[in-house]
Amino acid sequence: MTGKTRIYLDHNATSPLRPEAAQAMLETLASSIGNPASMHSEGRAARALVERAREQVATLAGTSSREIVFTSGGTEAIAAALHGVCDRAPDRLRRIVVSTVEHSAVLTSAKAAAVKGFEVVRVPCDAEGRVDAGAFIDQLRRGTLLACLQWANNETGVIQPVEEVGRACRQAGVPFLVDAVQAAGKVELELWRVHADLAALSAHKLGGPQGVGALVVRDGIVLSPLISGGAQERRRRAGTPSVAALAGFGAAAVVAHDGWKDESERLLRLRAKIETRLRNLYPQVRFHGQASPRLGNTVNFALPEASGEVLVIALDLAGFAVSTGSACASGAVEPSHVIRAMGLDETEARGAVRVSLGWSTETADVDRFLEQLPQVVQQVREGTTDAV
Ligand code: PLP
Repeated sequence: MTGKTRIYLDHNATSPLRPEAAQAMLETLASSIGNPASMHSEGRAARALVERAREQVATLAGTSSREIVFTSGGTEAIAAALHGVCDRAPDRLRRIVVSTVEHSAVLTSAKAAAVKGFEVVRVPCDAEGRVDAGAFIDQLRRGTLLACLQWANNETGVIQPVEEVGRACRQAGVPFLVDAVQAAGKVELELWRVHADLAALSAHKLGGPQGVGALVVRDGIVLSPLISGGAQERRRRAGTPSVAALAGFGAAAVVAHDGWKDESERLLRLRAKIETRLRNLYPQVRFHGQASPRLGNTVNFALPEASGEVLVIALDLAGFAVSTGSACASGAVEPSHVIRAMGLDETEARGAVRVSLGWSTETADVDRFLEQLPQVVQQVREGTTDAV
């Protein structure tokens, strides 16, 4: 039995800081005093820490360290990629191809490009959350400036056909941006294999600190910087970085790189346990994206007669952190655009609940979750939970 007072099953939102990352950060905070841009010994020592983190992140991504540009996270990496490409676009290249299930970081940056006159083509997914590679590739027509596809979806865990799309982009001469934020640490992240020209990473999804990430910029791709000022990051992203955060990112990247395979298999077994139990308890449970290749840590489901939002709040009161696919926009809870894109109606989409496992998830956590779930579901269905 787990002795934890709360059980955290929301790793796709953010994964708790790994002890290795925490230690690297504490050591850096205690010892590093210089600005990595300074010439003196303190500055050079700080710079060495930044460069070590860069090597560690590059190893995780299967790229060279000079291709890593540190950012404040996945959102900035994506915004920098879209801005950087659009800002330098010649008049004959005005088309951007994305999928409908991209993270809002991509969709919002694409919208901003549309306002500037770019044509944004959104390729739909099927009922299982997967984007058809052929349909995406069909859109790589003349005049395409950039193609953008996520490696794995944050809500369903569905893995997209990045390798096939990347190959086609390379053949068509279209730069390919991969949102690898959710895939990092959960798959073999070899960006060269998927022909990514640009890729976004985020430390806090793999047990590093929040507020730091990276844009991978393949050699030969030139971007206008989103943030200009000093000469940091070889003039690709200005601003003094948090050396401690980068040390934490690097340490988390090392653990993720060395352990992703065993960890994925372990989490897959725990996820299977959850899915089997859910199906036994609730034969009418609906799994979202289950027929697609998926990350091993994510399950997205809906139970009949249970609102996702109420279930999440009721579970929270019972000591479990899980999430809905819904996002709070302008004061109203909007059903997930990802689940809606899979063809579910608004009511069905409002039923979606996401459980995402990670490095800190133990078998006992899952057992306790499955033990207490029936009671919480019953309360939700009867309207007797304090959550309503
Ligand atoms: N892309 C995906 C697929 C994500 O899941 C997230 C975070 O939820 C992001 C991008 C944004 O990353 P960050 O939180 O580091 O800005």
